[in-house]
Amino acid sequence: MRIHTIGGFNEVGKNMTAVEVGEDVFLFDAGLFLPPIVELEEREGVMEERKLRAINAIPDDLILDSKDLRRKVRAILVGHAHLDHVGAVPYIAERYNAEIYGTPFTTAVLKTLMADEKKEIKNPIRSIQPNSNFKVKCFDGKEKEIDFVNITHSTIQTSLMALHTKEGVVLYANDFKFDNSPQLGNKPNYEKLKELQKEGVKALIVDSLYASEERKTPSEKVARTLLEDVLLTTDNSKSAIIVTTFSSHIARLKSIVDFGKKLDRKIVFVGRSLNKYVGAAIKENLCPFQKDISVLSYRKQIEAGFRKINKNKDHYLIVCTGHQGEPGSILDRISKNETPLELSPRDHVIFSSKTIPAEINIANKSHLEKRLKQKGVRIFNDVHVSGHAGREDLRDFINLVQPEHIIPAHGELAKLSSMAELAHEMGYSLGKTCHLSPNLHHVDL
Ligand SMILES: [Zn+2]
Repeated sequence: MRIHTIGGFNEVGKNMTAVEVGEDVFLFDAGLFLPPIVELEEREGVMEERKLRAINAIPDDLILDSKDLRRKVRAILVGHAHLDHVGAVPYIAERYNAEIYGTPFTTAVLKTLMADEKKEIKNPIRSIQPNSNFKVKCFDGKEKEIDFVNITHSTIQTSLMALHTKEGVVLYANDFKFDNSPQLGNKPNYEKLKELQKEGVKALIVDSLYASEERKTPSEKVARTLLEDVLLTTDNSKSAIIVTTFSSHIARLKSIVDFGKKLDRKIVFVGRSLNKYVGAAIKENLCPFQKDISVLSYRKQIEAGFRKINKNKDHYLIVCTGHQGEPGSILDRISKNETPLELSPRDHVIFSSKTIPAEINIANKSHLEKRLKQKGVRIFNDVHVSGHAGREDLRDFINLVQPEHIIPAHGELAKLSSMAELAHEMGYSLGKTCHLSPNLHHVDL
């Protein structure tokens, strides 16, 4: 067995791992690296593969050609709907004669991305329910079984993926946290993980983003409480309320809508990416607040809606894009007076998010805040909990599945090294049973 670390091992983004077992190759995730394209978030027009490769925004899967592996790819498996995991699929999938597998929400988001980019691909797209399995036909005519194991994260229907091989299970765990009180969807499937341990986990490819943070990542119910405090116990009776969060975080959006209803405000969603993800959730019948919101999508609709809202700002709760200060996002445009919505002192802007620590995001967010403060609005930052496991969750995870080999993933070397340190603490030895493998390298097991 050879594990090719293609993307996401030198950076946070463009995740992709190829698992080669004999004559068969399985691709896990194909994501975008977002910082170089962040300014394109709310852009008009489409992206091209050539351009994305030139700015290093998609995984460098051409390496599979040089190793003559392209023709061996049997399946493209996508764990969840975040762009750094699914976003490159429309650009690379056609290179492979393979079907694409994801949960209903993930595949709905994928189809929305393709429609938006006017991309059509010939690969069949298969929808797999969380906590179910399926088989993929291999070179020798036999089949290999794959499990989608339900796990919690910051978007719905996230799965750990387990590939069953003769040599043991390859468990792909990017991204996840252990949330025992999820606000939407089911708890992690600990039972299945125990079963996989009994079968024998040969290799674990694992989300190391917060391996250095000595903590257990709090449940989404904590984020809900933080939101409740800001929305229901701070006087906002005469204020506009704008909340911005990750568009794919359907559970978080649900909490925001619940409190908006308690405030007896009309809830309005504004912005392209919100449209994308909420639309996909609605399509799959996974959006519990569908009837409680109205959506403004086209520019003219947004302008007319904002003109109306501007007359009675305290009757509405606006949920919009722009938590990273992305130029062209709705909050960015509001702050630059590019919409009819005027902010005044005492209005509330709530960031139910954390600024992603890339230079461009930090700069964008700081400019946005400066403009908002000039208007005298009150800013509520970090009304958020992470979707990634902390060090103590990772320790529990390793104890639970007892992998023979660990391959830290999802970050640059410093992050992967923290995971390796933890593995070392737990009795693994670097280079033998724990493997630091940068992009475009491989590990032989
Ligand atoms: Zn994710």
